[in-house]
Amino acid sequence: MKVALHACCGPCFLEPYDALAAEHDVLIVYANPNIDPAEEYVRRREALLRHAEHRGIEVLEIAYQPQLWESATALARSTKEERCRACYELRLRLTAEAAVEEGCEALATTLSVSPYQDQDALEEIGARIAAAHGLTWLGHDWRSRYPEATRRSRELGMYRQNYCGCLPSSEEAERERAERRDARRARKDR
Ligand code: SF4
Repeated sequence: MKVALHACCGPCFLEPYDALAAEHDVLIVYANPNIDPAEEYVRRREALLRHAEHRGIEVLEIAYQPQLWESATALARSTKEERCRACYELRLRLTAEAAVEEGCEALATTLSVSPYQDQDALEEIGARIAAAHGLTWLGHDWRSRYPEATRRSRELGMYRQNYCGCLPSSEEAERERAERRDARRARKDR
């Protein structure tokens, strides 16, 4: 089967790609208008492309259009859950459209390897979008492979981001790091 695999970044790409490529012909689709700022988008793309090129793997990039993420999530900012659902929906829709154009029969995403993503939402949205485009949804729970993805990406010296992608997630991650720093200081002072 020819599978369009949405790739969010280099580290998350490693394990899902190997799992799928063992059985299928895989086209990587880099469709990530959620990433902010543009320099970060390029850093993640380059990490993926360098590795893919080294292995002779084809990557299709959907042109960076951050305004798509802005409009897709504009009405879904009241909770992180809603925002992420709108974000998954957008990225998987862009990938499904490319999949149809490229003659793929199935759809999957590297987000399925991440313990930080809402896997139930991904499963529901992915299955719906695949069906709407006449594709088979290959919804795997690859979270057990995340530690190996982390190990391999470190070994490869691959760029590893410290936030999910959008501006709100960058601010949330910064707040969480500050809280952890404060908690460590408080423990030391006790
Ligand atoms: S936190 Fe991640 S999945 Fe959620 S909206 Fe931001 S970039 Fe998308």
